[in-house]
Amino acid sequence: MTLRDNNIEQLKTTPLDVLIIGAGINGAVSAAALAAKGVRVAIVDRGDFAGETSSQSSNLAWGGIKYLESHDYGLVNELCQSRNHLMESYPSTVKEIRFLTTIATGFRFPAPVVYAGTVMYWMFGRFVMRRPSYLCASEIKRLEPIINVDKVQGGFEYSDCYLHDNDSRFVFNFVRRAQENGGIAANYVESQGAVRENGLWRVTLKDLVSGTSFEVTAKTLINACGPYVDEHNRLIGQRTQHRHLFSKGIHLIVDRITPTHKVLAFFASDGRLFFIMPMGPKTCIGTTDVQVQSPRTCVTDEDRDFVLDNVNQLLSLDKPLTKADIISERCGVRPLASTGDAAIENWTEISRKHSIDVNHAQQHLSIFGGKLTDCINVGNEVCELVGAMGVSLQHNHQRWYGEPSQFERQRFMRQAQAINLDGLLPKEAQQPSPEPLSQRFWRRYGHNAFGLLERIKQQPHSGKLLIENAAYLVCEIELAARTEMIVTLEDFLRRRSKISLVVDRDTLLASKGLLQACAILFGEQAQAKLDEYNTNYSK
Ligand SMILES: Cc1cc2nc3c(=O)[nH]c(=O)nc-3n(C[C@H](O)[C@H](O)[C@H](O)COP(=O)(O)OP(=O)(O)OC[C@H]3O[C@@H](n4cnc5c(N)ncnc54)[C@H](O)[C@@H]3O)c2cc1C
Repeated sequence: MTLRDNNIEQLKTTPLDVLIIGAGINGAVSAAALAAKGVRVAIVDRGDFAGETSSQSSNLAWGGIKYLESHDYGLVNELCQSRNHLMESYPSTVKEIRFLTTIATGFRFPAPVVYAGTVMYWMFGRFVMRRPSYLCASEIKRLEPIINVDKVQGGFEYSDCYLHDNDSRFVFNFVRRAQENGGIAANYVESQGAVRENGLWRVTLKDLVSGTSFEVTAKTLINACGPYVDEHNRLIGQRTQHRHLFSKGIHLIVDRITPTHKVLAFFASDGRLFFIMPMGPKTCIGTTDVQVQSPRTCVTDEDRDFVLDNVNQLLSLDKPLTKADIISERCGVRPLASTGDAAIENWTEISRKHSIDVNHAQQHLSIFGGKLTDCINVGNEVCELVGAMGVSLQHNHQRWYGEPSQFERQRFMRQAQAINLDGLLPKEAQQPSPEPLSQRFWRRYGHNAFGLLERIKQQPHSGKLLIENAAYLVCEIELAARTEMIVTLEDFLRRRSKISLVVDRDTLLASKGLLQACAILFGEQAQAKLDEYNTNYSK
C-alpha cells in the first residue's frame, strides 16, 4: 500500500480535532504547527500539495520594500521581522541575496530618495543583512554589463531573501513535518461539502484518483483554499467579513542571461517592480500584477509580450529575447484579503497581509491572503485560535518549524564527506546544479538525508545519476517514491523538484533516465504516467 493510500485509509477511520482543506503554504504551516502541538489534524488538497498559488510565486521572502512608498511602515516592520525569523530558522533554504536596482531618468522619485528608502528598509530589517550601497550609472554598468544604462539616473544594491529550492518544495516540507508529528496528509482529495451537526463537522471528501467518496468528522474546520476560500465558504454556507480579490502574476524562465548571482530589479513600464532572478542554472523573469475576476487563469500572449518587451528595453542583450527562448512559465493569482463589497479604487494598494476570519460558534476558520514570507505567523495564529476554541494543544510549547540544529548539520556533512557524496556527480552533471550535493541533500531532506547516505553506502548503485541534465540520484527518487506521495510525473518534476522549470521539455523527454525514474516512482504504471505527462503538460 502506498503512503497516500494508507493516509486515506487513516482519514476514513480517525476522528479528527482539525481538518484543513487546502495544502498551499497557509494550510501546510497550519498542519505542521497543529500536529507538532499534539492536535489530531489532517490536511487534504484536491490537487497536488502546493499545486496552485504556492508554486507560482517569485520565490522571495521579502520584507515588503515596496510598501514604503504607500507609507505602510507597520507592514514593512512586520514583514522584515518575519523575513529575518524565516532566514534564521531556515539558514540553508532562505538566503540573503543582493538586489541590483536601477532608477530611470524621469522616474516618480529621484534615485537618491529611493536609495534613502533602502536605508530605512535596512533599519527596519534590524541591520542583519548587508547595508545598501548607492551606485551611479557607470558603476552599475561595471557591475552588470547587460543592464542598459542609457536612460538611468542612478541605482543601488540592497539585500532581501530568496528561497533556494522553490516555493512548492518549501511548502511540501511543512506537509512532511506535519506527518512526522502524527498528522495525516493526502493530495488529490477534494472537499465536496460539509455540514455542522451535533458539535462536529461532517465533511464529504472525494479521492480523485480512485473516484471514491467518504466522510470524515472533525471538531474544527480550516478553510485554507487560497484563491478558492470564498468558493468553499459558499459551498458550506459560511459568511465572512473578508473576501478575496485576485491579482494575476506570471513569470517566464529562460536560459541564464547573466552569471551574476543577484536579482536585477527594475520599475517596469507600468511603474511596478519587475525582477530578473537566478533560478538554479536559468533565469526567471517577472512578474506582472493585473487584477482578474477569476482565479482560473493562464499565461496569455499579452503577458508574454509585456515581460519580454520590458526585459529587452531594460537590458542590452546580444540578441533580444523572444517567445522561442521561453523554457517554462509560471502563472498564478495572488489572493488579496479585502473587506466589504464596495468597489476598490486603487486596488494595487490593498494590503497583502493575511487575515483569519473566525466563526467561533461553528469552529470554522477561513485564512485570507498571506505570503510565504509570513508563514510562521500564520501557523502560530492558527494554533492560538484553535486552542481558544477548546481543542487541546497538549504540547503547546513544541517548536514546529526550522531546520535541524547546526550540530546535526555538521554531523551530516562529516558523514557525507566520508563517502565523498559531492564527488558522486560527474563534472558535466554539476553544470545545472553548481552547488555541492551535500548541501542540496541537507536543505531538501533534513534528517532524512542521513538515510540517503546509508542507502548509498549499502547500495552504491543508488548513488548513480538518473535523469540527465537534472542532477538527481537514484536514491533521491526512491525516497520520493516512498515518502512524497507522487501521483503524477508533474508532481515530481515541477513541485517536489524544479526539474521541469529549468530543463527544457524536449531535452527532458529525450532523457533515457526519465523512464527509469518513472519505474521507481510508479512501478508498472511507468510508461502510462510518462505518456500522461507527455500529453497533459506543456511549458
Ligand atoms: C505571481 C505571484 C508572485 C508571488 N510572489 C511572492 C513572493 O515572492 N513571496 C511571497 O511571500 N509571496 C508571494 N506571493 C504570494 C503567495 O504565493 C501566496 O499568497 C500564497 O502562496 C497563497 O497560499 P495559499 O495557501 O493561501 O493558497 P494556495 O497555494 O493556492 O493553496 C490553496 C489550495 O487549496 C486547494 N483547494 C481549493 N479548493 C479545494 C477543495 N474544495 N478541496 C481541497 N482542496 C482545495 C487548492 O488546490 C490549493 O492547492 C506571490 C503570488 C503570486 C501569484
